[in-house]
Amino acid sequence: MKINSIYSPNFDEKKRSYKSIKFLVIHYTGMQSERESIRRLCNPKSEVSCHYFINQNGKIFRLVDDNKIAWHSGKSCWGKYKNLNKNSIGIEMVNKGHQFGYSNFKKKQLSSLIKICQNLIKKYRIKRHNIIGHSDIAPLRKLDPGEKFPWKRLANNKIGIWHNLKEKYLIKLRKVKIDNKSKFEFIRKLKKIGYCFNIKKKGSFIKIIKAFQRHYRKELINGVADKESLIIAKNISKKI
Ligand SMILES: [Zn+2]
Repeated sequence: MKINSIYSPNFDEKKRSYKSIKFLVIHYTGMQSERESIRRLCNPKSEVSCHYFINQNGKIFRLVDDNKIAWHSGKSCWGKYKNLNKNSIGIEMVNKGHQFGYSNFKKKQLSSLIKICQNLIKKYRIKRHNIIGHSDIAPLRKLDPGEKFPWKRLANNKIGIWHNLKEKYLIKLRKVKIDNKSKFEFIRKLKKIGYCFNIKKKGSFIKIIKAFQRHYRKELINGVADKESLIIAKNISKKI
């Protein structure tokens, strides 16, 4: 696999150990162009970066070495991990994103992503459920990589997890209301999967549900806890 290098100065000086790398975090660039994204990720003033950058032709660039902490996640949380930069490898996919014209990820781009993920998983023994999106670990602030990101396809390649429920069965549960007891069960399952949230914080639950749906139930992202969302969450949580 060919990897080109571009230097970004946006990382912690201190090296980290192999063992501390436990997550792969997927992003989209969310900017007008590839060139603009690279410029930002390499500009010391922006204080953002990533380890790998994949353009729409599937070309891979390394911006920061794996053994350095790149600045891609910001304030974030997953399960018992807080501020995931120190424990993760950040991968940026070129895509204009929700703000500038969100489009499907390109075939070549995805096959490069799959290859590099498989390499990293092997190298650092990353667990399947530790391959997540930026919006999963920062659901109140982020939407990337978004609902067009093909998590199911990745899971078919053993990258990340997916449910094993039938589409025909699920569609009947879409928009079906659930009672309060089931809502609490849904909350417990989301927490087990890894989502961090404080239910008492106003508006946060809706955003968490949306983040979950953006990842696992992209057909309807409405922030409502319906039966389909609950059943998927139950199924996913069993795989953790
Ligand atoms: Zn991001």
